[in-house]
Amino acid sequence: MKIRFLGTNGWYDTKTANTVCAMVETDEYYIILDAGSGFYKTREYIKDGRPVLLFLSHLHLDHIIGLHTLPLFNIPQGIDVYMPGGMTGPLKTFLSKPYTSPLDTIATRVRLHEIDTERPPKLDCRFGPLLHSPTCYGYRLRLEGKTISYCTDTGICDELCALAKDCDLLITECSFKPGEDVSKASHLNPEAAAGIAKECGVKKLGLIHFDAGRYPSLKDRGFAENTARKIFPNTFAATDDQELKL
Ligand SMILES: [Zn+2]
Ligand SMILES: [Zn+2]
Repeated sequence: MKIRFLGTNGWYDTKTANTVCAMVETDEYYIILDAGSGFYKTREYIKDGRPVLLFLSHLHLDHIIGLHTLPLFNIPQGIDVYMPGGMTGPLKTFLSKPYTSPLDTIATRVRLHEIDTERPPKLDCRFGPLLHSPTCYGYRLRLEGKTISYCTDTGICDELCALAKDCDLLITECSFKPGEDVSKASHLNPEAAAGIAKECGVKKLGLIHFDAGRYPSLKDRGFAENTARKIFPNTFAATDDQELKL
């Protein structure tokens, strides 16, 4: 399967990156992880009738702002959006007038599901609440014999390790800089992300959600990557439009 990082910033766009969005393409599915400003790029990769599943971690705008580009899409099979319980009401408000074109006026049918009560049929998927200011879910997906854990935004918590346990790829956040205290934070720094990867038996660690203010350049991300590699060598700092085979 292919994993494409389409947005790797947290908070806001910079010259370096859009805000968070990743896409996993398998033989069976197009799976999109969050819909930050990089979301518009998924359009060029959705080429056939495979189901399109979008998993939203939470509704902070850097994770959903890309949804205002939905009117550009024309996906005959529609998109199934999965999110934490209680979030469909607020999301519907966001996806309506006067903010954007209402869902019932656009070409692509968008079906909203709260994952607690409506899980994706036939997909091996676990989820759980991370440590963040609003309700925020991490996801663990079993695809083509591999396990991908997608956990952002989060501080250090037990659920993060439970979702990441022995996975093939952990995609998690790196909002803070090396050396910053994250013991009480609802975000991670590279040492914390690498520590989780090591402790929880992860095989590969991909860092995303680099805080736009703290990481103005790719050089800053390189510093984070090097710091993390001292703790967990198989780490990479993801960049926009990076593609990975798993
Ligand atoms: Zn965020
Ligand atoms: Zn957030």
